[in-house]
Amino acid sequence: MKIRLFFVISSLFVMFSFLGSSQQKYEVEKSDQEWKNQLTEMSYLVLRKAYTERPYTGKYDNFYETGTYHCAGCDEELYKSDRKYNSNCGWPSFDMEIKDKLIYDVDYKLGYPRTEIKCKKCGGHLGHVFNDGPKETTGIRHCVNSVALVFKKT
Ligand SMILES: [Zn+2]
Repeated sequence: MKIRLFFVISSLFVMFSFLGSSQQKYEVEKSDQEWKNQLTEMSYLVLRKAYTERPYTGKYDNFYETGTYHCAGCDEELYKSDRKYNSNCGWPSFDMEIKDKLIYDVDYKLGYPRTEIKCKKCGGHLGHVFNDGPKETTGIRHCVNSVALVFKKT
């Protein structure tokens, strides 16, 4: 009986944590139509529908000016230019985000788990993180879509 109760309680816990994650609240929330009106078509598809821009096509892929990269959805500062490096993967790459600005999630779109990164403030999809970053710093590669970012010079 005790064991059964344990299973009931743990399955309830799993159910509630699932419900919790699907009802994530963000500081900036807009309707689908509002996002469509505000964003370019490609930024909308990436940020709100988790599309990926074609490699080597993004405007920040080969771009190394000094400044800050903001979320294209809500303008939150996400990356400093001194954490950007050339990974040759075809997308802007960073070895570290600005502290506490991202949400890490898991997606199975390609049939295996990948760590998805989202803007903490608006929930916009940015890209993924991988463990093949520069070994001399963090070893982490944030692979971010250019259209999810807006660069501002400092
Ligand atoms: Zn955002």
